[in-house]
Amino acid sequence: MTGTTGEADFAWMRQALDEARRASERDEVPVGAVLVGPEGRAFADHNRTREASDPTAHAEMRVIRAAAERSGDWRLLDHTLYVTLEPCAMCAGAIVLARIPRVVFAAPDPKAGMCGSLENLVQDARLNHRVELVAGLLEEASAELLRGFFVARRGGRDGGAAGVSGGTDAP
Ligand code: ZN
Repeated sequence: MTGTTGEADFAWMRQALDEARRASERDEVPVGAVLVGPEGRAFADHNRTREASDPTAHAEMRVIRAAAERSGDWRLLDHTLYVTLEPCAMCAGAIVLARIPRVVFAAPDPKAGMCGSLENLVQDARLNHRVELVAGLLEEASAELLRGFFVARRGGRDGGAAGVSGGTDAP
C-alpha cells in the first residue's frame, strides 16, 4: 500500500466495499465508491452500467455527479473519493475535472487502471490539478469480490462453455 492513511479511511473503504457487494448482487461488476465531503457528508453508490445501459455509470461517476449536483458546485474541493477498484481513464478524467484533492482505492486494475497501472492521469504534472493518491487500502477484500464475481459468471451463465458473452470488461 502507498500513501498515508488513518482509521477513518478504513471505515469509508469498508462502506465502499458494501456498495461493491450490492453491485454484485445486481449482477453488476462489483465496484463501489464513497465520496466524502466537508463535515463528513458522504455519497455512496456502485457500478450500474448494466442496469442503466450506460457505459459511463461507473461508481465514481455516480458519486461525483451526486455530490456536485447537491452542492451546486462542479468543484469538489475538500473531498476524498474512496473506490474499490483503481479508476479508469474516464473516472480519472472526472476526478481531475472535479478538482478532487484525494483518492483512495483498493485493488489495482492492471487492464484499465489510470491511477498508476497503465498511466497516472491524476498525478500528471502537465495537468492543472494533481491528486494525493493512496493505493491498495483493503486491496485483498476488493480483489476477492471481483474474482468471485467473474468466476461465478463464467461457471454459472454458460456452464463453463467457451467465453462469456458481452459486458465482461471490468469498469
Ligand atoms: Zn471508471
